Amino acid sequence: MNVSDGERLANLLESHGCTRATKEKDADIIVVVSCSIRQKAMDKLFGKLPTWRKWRQQRGVRTVLTGCVLPSDRRKLKKEFDIFIEMKDIADLPSLLKLTPSDADQGEVTNADYLALKPDYKSKIQAYIPIMTGCNNYCTFCVVPYTRGQESSRSSSEIISEVKKLISKGYSEIILLGQNVNAYIDPDKYHDQDTIYSRSRYFWEFKKDQPIQWRMATTKVPKDFAMLLKKINRIPGKFWVRFLTSNPQDVSDELIDTLDKCHKLTKYFHLPIQAGDDEILRRMNRRHTRDYYLKLIKKIRKARPGTAITTDIIVGFPGETKKQFEETAKVMREVKYDMAYIAEYSPRPGTSAQRFFKDDVSRQEKIRRRKILNNILAETALANNKKLVGQTITMLVDKYNKETKSNSGKTGTNKTVHFKGKNFVGKFTNVKINQVSAWGLAGELSK
Ligand code: SF4
Repeated sequence: MNVSDGERLANLLESHGCTRATKEKDADIIVVVSCSIRQKAMDKLFGKLPTWRKWRQQRGVRTVLTGCVLPSDRRKLKKEFDIFIEMKDIADLPSLLKLTPSDADQGEVTNADYLALKPDYKSKIQAYIPIMTGCNNYCTFCVVPYTRGQESSRSSSEIISEVKKLISKGYSEIILLGQNVNAYIDPDKYHDQDTIYSRSRYFWEFKKDQPIQWRMATTKVPKDFAMLLKKINRIPGKFWVRFLTSNPQDVSDELIDTLDKCHKLTKYFHLPIQAGDDEILRRMNRRHTRDYYLKLIKKIRKARPGTAITTDIIVGFPGETKKQFEETAKVMREVKYDMAYIAEYSPRPGTSAQRFFKDDVSRQEKIRRRKILNNILAETALANNKKLVGQTITMLVDKYNKETKSNSGKTGTNKTVHFKGKNFVGKFTNVKINQVSAWGLAGELSK
């Protein structure tokens, strides 16, 4: 999402006379699109401050902070940046920087609709298209609802027109983005705001020294995302469609049914489980259980055999016992993921977990648990990849190394493949797989 935000931001500044600096030290304006999901990214930002402070004093560099920034970090960083601006208001940035438009063609941009800004796509092959932003789920470890705000979707007509333009320019892969893509609600379809906002429904009450009060407003899973996929699938041309990220609770039967009907959808499903123990899931305010999740995986695999499943997992969430952690390890062995993004829990300021739960799993134990899961992942990913040896697979080439005469790219299942030969960048290519590791494949061009 931050890559996509950066692309929109770049075009906005370029349309106001700015040009890209090739090196950070040459820039007159530095815009930081920050991420508060993990402490590591914020530590990196804080580490950069002394250099930027020096540049601001010595040569008048102007610095701007946007993206996911927690209120507590915003207070700390206030003096370090000339401008702080919410991503949703980013269309105002040129006027705050006193830049004059050199190309007024930015469409009808309102402050409430930064997604309408035209992006300056980094790649000529794949394009990230945000279809919604924000989240109403309030997982207790997550900052997104606080930094990105409530769910807000783009109209399907606008998305379709962006996809059509990209396909006519020769793009081969469309990646639909949202913090919770399945929660997409098409504003073209609903004209009454009550329907659109009916998903603003989850809130949690934590009273000191009292059991946590979980309040849940039940809502129907919207069908709009499945409908949007069908519309995109009908656009003529040869291209792939991917989407991320999905919350298990919002994966509708319509979406599962759509997987096999939309042949442009790749066989790839990223479905974060976060933990394999129901009590930890409850404390995380995830509204799925382990059994529900496992049934969902079965449904996806039945609907679209050969789909690669990937996930996100947090180890060492407050109160996670060794036995509860074992449940996560069991799920990993059972699902046999192709990839998993495993993070050690770190308390994010302002989240419910940080305010109400003690970060009581030691760093050492978190590292131990992460390593165990990484080892399981390495085994399952390798076993999955071994089944591909001898098979001919279609991949989309996105890089070419002239020195080694080697192409690389991704399969529809999002696995990296290398093969030698002339430059095939931007092309769908069939490759016969003859070598595999847990993290990638290699092969030769298939005739
Ligand atoms: S569903 Fe995802 S984005 Fe939303 S609160 Fe939970 S982890 Fe954060």
